[in-house]
Order: sequence, then C-alpha cells, then structure tokens
Amino acid sequence: MSRASARKAAAKARVTPEAAWAALHAALEDYAPPCTDDPLFTADHLAPEDVAFCASLCSACPLFDQCEAYAITAKVSAGYWAGTAYPKRKKNW
Ligand code: SF4
Repeated sequence: MSRASARKAAAKARVTPEAAWAALHAALEDYAPPCTDDPLFTADHLAPEDVAFCASLCSACPLFDQCEAYAITAKVSAGYWAGTAYPKRKKNW
C-alpha cells in the first residue's frame, strides 16, 4: 500500500466527517490557504491546465492533510480538494 493510500485509509477508518471538519476549520483560523476565494476550486469543470494549477497550490499547502481527510470522510461531491477534483472522473483507458 502506498503512503497516500495508507493515509486515505486511515482517514476513512478513524475520523468522522464532523471531526475532520472541526480540524480543518480550526486550521483555517490560523492560515488562509492559497485556494481562498479562487473560483477554480469550486468550478464544475476544470481544463487540464486548471487542474495542474490547483494541484500545484495543493501540493504546497500546509492544510493538505486536514483538507484531504475532510474531503474523504465527508465524501464531497464537488469542488477541488487536496489535489483531487470531485466528482472523481473515471479514466477512459
Ligand atoms: S489542500 Fe485544500 S485547503 Fe489547501 S489549497 Fe488545496 S484545496 Fe485549498
């Protein structure tokens, strides 16, 4: 199991959506992430270059783990969270 998969599995197994949101909300009180007020992170569709831009911001974000934990546990259905666009798209190959 990769490190990322292990982290996601742990997030699913141990954290409720409410607890994940509380952790993310608390972190947001101390730090404004680079996605703040950026409409790309709430867009319905992203062009490949927009996905790459969002991914670059997320990869350097100190809130990545809290953001990812919330997205996974809450099963978000829209938006761009912690390096992943939702809803997740099936690959065509
Ligand atoms: S990891 Fe989450 S909080 Fe950080 S920039 Fe990406 S979407 Fe925003």
